[in-house]
Amino acid sequence: MIRENVPLSACTTLRLGGPADFLAEPGSEAELREALTWARERGLPVTVIGRGSNLLVRDGGIRGLVIRIAGSLGGLTVAGETLTAGAGAALTEVSRLAADRGLAGLSFAAGIPGSVGGGTVMNAGAYGGELCQTVVSVEGLRPDGTPFRYTAEELGFGYRESRLQHEEVLLTRVEMRLTPGDPEAIRAEMREFNRRRAEKQPLNLPSAGSTFKRPAGGFAAELIDRCGLKGLRIGGAQVSEKHAGFLVNLGGTAADFEALMNEVARRVLQETGVALTPEVRILGEAVRA
Ligand SMILES: Cc1cc2nc3c(=O)[nH]c(=O)nc-3n(C[C@H](O)[C@H](O)[C@H](O)COP(=O)(O)OP(=O)(O)OC[C@H]3O[C@@H](n4cnc5c(N)ncnc54)[C@H](O)[C@@H]3O)c2cc1C
Repeated sequence: MIRENVPLSACTTLRLGGPADFLAEPGSEAELREALTWARERGLPVTVIGRGSNLLVRDGGIRGLVIRIAGSLGGLTVAGETLTAGAGAALTEVSRLAADRGLAGLSFAAGIPGSVGGGTVMNAGAYGGELCQTVVSVEGLRPDGTPFRYTAEELGFGYRESRLQHEEVLLTRVEMRLTPGDPEAIRAEMREFNRRRAEKQPLNLPSAGSTFKRPAGGFAAELIDRCGLKGLRIGGAQVSEKHAGFLVNLGGTAADFEALMNEVARRVLQETGVALTPEVRILGEAVRA
């Protein structure tokens, strides 16, 4: 169940990143507990990832045990207006199920390539919707195996922000409250959002979505574009020609990508006075020790 020396480039949408010393993909909460015990017995650090769509893993990879909660641990149940999702479920799948059951509130997530767990940690959002508008509570385990549960009020949600980003926790389940709606109208909205994405975003190239958070009073893409940085390239990393907020991987290294992130932030600060902060989460070591 636990594999050794696994390239994480295969686990990220950027297709970048060195190896995990060890990788576990638990299929149940019992397997998750076993993986945590295994790491604890060996004194290994634990890192959790979801579908890897908001991650830059450095070229040296991640030491210790990486636990990937994606796909497995992804069961879905609907009772009335309450949808409960395993943290590994894909947001696209959850929003499709909600539409089929005539439940509105998740159409914004139709094209977000993350998991329910990663989406909740990031408070993912688009087109006026955010996961915090539907999340009622979350459950999971701490690295020592202790279970925890937080209500939405306890989660400290903000723009692409939650307390889960600052605690060592492994989400296993998220409960959401939706509102009744017409399945065909919800599906039409999902199609429209996905049409807009395909029109504006470089979906044919590896990326982690918007690289930077939206700064107060503006859009990162607009500032990057205004500084003339569209198409700027360092090694195999490039500011997308199609959408300046997306940095794409044309076949480079994580070091290229991080250097480009730093260069873009430096130039935008220099030319506009606005400090961009990364939305992408950076994990791991530049060089394997
Ligand atoms: C083409 C494209 C378009 C995108 N569009 C959007 C968009 O419109 N809106 C938006 O908000 N984002 C967007 N993103 C970014 C990304 O899809 C979201 O941030 C998504 O919610 C991340 O989920 P993930 O499962 O991939 O998490 P990962 O990238 O694997 O991880 C993100 C963070 O969550 C943590 N994490 C993941 N799973 C768990 C878990 N089970 N328990 C505890 N911590 C966990 C990780 O440690 C990490 O800190 C886009 C990305 C791409 C590639």
